[in-house]
Amino acid sequence: MPKGSGLYMAWPATTRYGLSVAPGNLGLVQDFLNTITEGTIAPPDLLATLASAQEWADRVTEQWISIDDLGWAKTLPRLTENDRKALVGIRDQLFEGLFGHSHSETASRLGRNNPTYHPVMTVSTGGIELRPDGEGWKYFETALLLICHQGQLEGVLRRMKSCKSETCDVVFYDRSNNNSGVWHDVKVCGNRANVRAHRERSATN
Ligand SMILES: [Zn+2]
Repeated sequence: MPKGSGLYMAWPATTRYGLSVAPGNLGLVQDFLNTITEGTIAPPDLLATLASAQEWADRVTEQWISIDDLGWAKTLPRLTENDRKALVGIRDQLFEGLFGHSHSETASRLGRNNPTYHPVMTVSTGGIELRPDGEGWKYFETALLLICHQGQLEGVLRRMKSCKSETCDVVFYDRSNNNSGVWHDVKVCGNRANVRAHRERSATN
């Protein structure tokens, strides 16, 4: 399969919500965030148990390797319970950092217990190269943050959004011209909000 062909995109968590995927490596971050359970379909939280987290990890790294044009993707060691907990923690922090609201009620606030990550910087023939570093799954977490950072510089990170619905945090990639999308699915979450607003208006009239 040609790299980035987009034909056989199979990000395991994002596809559960029937969403179009963010471009390139940003799809990895989107998939990681979409391991949550959310919305009306409510599939399980893929990071809830070590077994389901491992199953997701196997599939997501395979997909990452198949689309990776940065040369960062690699097979990672089997997850330990501590790795799983660290992934849940960084997922909470990313929700807070990128979307301004926490996902889980137990989420640690940014600034407190906020782990730091160390990329590697080298001078290479193409210019300055920045790469993820770290042992085991710390490498994966560093890669997630670096991909976000790169998306921030390229202006595409702001297109990755968490659904505006109060009961849905699904992470979608907004391809609208003016980046004005707010619902992961207009028909589901958008309609539900409209019906609620209509009911509230009727009740006050
Ligand atoms: Zn939604």
